[in-house]
Amino acid sequence: MNQQPLIYDYNYSDFERLFEEWDEPAYRARQVWQGIYTNLWNQPEQFTSLPRTLRDKLAGYFDFSGLTTQTILRSNDGETLKTLFRLRDGQPIETVRMRYMRRRTLCISTQAGCAMGCTFCATGQMGFRRHLSSGEIVEQVMFFARLLAEQGEKVTNIVVMGMGEPFHNYDSTLAAIDRLNHPEGFNLGSRRFTISTVGLIPMIRRFAQEKRQVNLAVSLHAADDELRASMLPVNRKYPINELMAALVEYVEITHRRVTFEWALIRDINDTPEQARKLAALLQPLKKSGAALAHVNLIPLNPTRGFSGQAATLDRARAFKAILEEKGIPCTVRIRRGIDIQAGCGQLAGS
Ligand code: SAH
Ligand code: SF4
Repeated sequence: MNQQPLIYDYNYSDFERLFEEWDEPAYRARQVWQGIYTNLWNQPEQFTSLPRTLRDKLAGYFDFSGLTTQTILRSNDGETLKTLFRLRDGQPIETVRMRYMRRRTLCISTQAGCAMGCTFCATGQMGFRRHLSSGEIVEQVMFFARLLAEQGEKVTNIVVMGMGEPFHNYDSTLAAIDRLNHPEGFNLGSRRFTISTVGLIPMIRRFAQEKRQVNLAVSLHAADDELRASMLPVNRKYPINELMAALVEYVEITHRRVTFEWALIRDINDTPEQARKLAALLQPLKKSGAALAHVNLIPLNPTRGFSGQAATLDRARAFKAILEEKGIPCTVRIRRGIDIQAGCGQLAGS
């Protein structure tokens, strides 16, 4: 494995420190930062604002890329693009770009594999390989930012819903978001990010205390402990009542809406009974008439290691109707890019 530092792992202040060590003027940090995050440069020779000697020094010191593109797949409608990358040590990760109306959304990975073992998830079926560094998370974004720039477009939204459990790799995930937030660089606002978690309660508490503007999504998938634990082993450690209590606290502290994800599996969790239980669970998140919960229903993306089937659209609509009757806003999501296995982990796991 390449032992040179990955350039995307450096914060602004790290560059300031480095250039001080190298006896370079302080403004070099801004030049390099803007080169990377505003001009989207990824080759040392592109940094023409720097003297050649410094460019060479940077080229010798840093690794300018930690990602090798292995496969790029485009959906039939051309709106979804999925990439399988190899990290410097050969571990596979996936990143997806979705085009929808004016949005250009990236779905990024935070780990190679995942330790949470959700039965229906291709990444869970792979097991845990390792955490990604913050720079490896950031570089996925910069890769697609460059591709989009070629068409005069920009990344508008980022969902941390690719491979891995972001709150199991909390520090690197939030450091990556901070780097992409930086006003003198990439400058993508916190509200443009959504972190999806399987429900690691201590990290939800910590996240609440940080009072960020980043959106939070929680993968619920079942409304009672028995069913949820059979699909999401983490539920044995963090049962539903404790999870909901932490989320009520989160909403009280941040006044921000929580999105709940629910992969609809035929005859398992698409029943009217589950819908009613879910509606009851979410009632405490309705405050002064405003619902601080939103449910995303996504028909299951079938995976090799799981025998469950996608729910029918009729069952999805009936489920949605029950929630809405109880005042819980709900969206049925269409699976995008199913022809390219855009469910994360499906390429890397195969
Ligand atoms: N680890 C985080 C984020 C990555 S998974 C989490 O679990 O929330 C992103 C979303 O995809 C989660 O809601 C997850 O439950 C869902 N998902 C995983 N496998 C799926 C599948 N086969 N079909 C539909 N959704 C799936
Ligand atoms: Fe991990 Fe999320 Fe997949 Fe569960 S659903 S195994 S937490 S990536």
